[in-house]
Amino acid sequence: MGQIVRSGAFLQQCWSVHPLCVAVKRMTDDNRLILSCTSCRFVHHLTPSSVVVRASAVLDQAEDSSREDPIPDSGQAQLAGCLAEHPSALSLREMDVFEDLVLVRCAECRRHYAVTVSSFETHQK
Ligand SMILES: [Zn+2]
Ligand SMILES: [Zn+2]
Repeated sequence: MGQIVRSGAFLQQCWSVHPLCVAVKRMTDDNRLILSCTSCRFVHHLTPSSVVVRASAVLDQAEDSSREDPIPDSGQAQLAGCLAEHPSALSLREMDVFEDLVLVRCAECRRHYAVTVSSFETHQK
């Protein structure tokens, strides 16, 4: 294993420089969300503190009215289910390092997952 950097800065940089190279890969057994960048060979580990599921349409219309009909506790499980069943349908849509928030879209289920991240780690391959 290479170096580990505990910061969201690398993911932010990947996201701003080459967003299409950042892929949502999987959820680990200890509930960490793994994103990898094909361009700079970084693997980003995100520890979610909460996952809120939103329908895509709701998000597009009213981005600010968050917490609309959150489904308690099931967000993370649903995200894990999506990653197990159709990982290629998931993509990083937005990220906000100041809010520690990333938005993952599932094209298959037409849902967005608003993931509040309690810690970021970037691993060099
Ligand atoms: Zn990158
Ligand atoms: Zn899905």
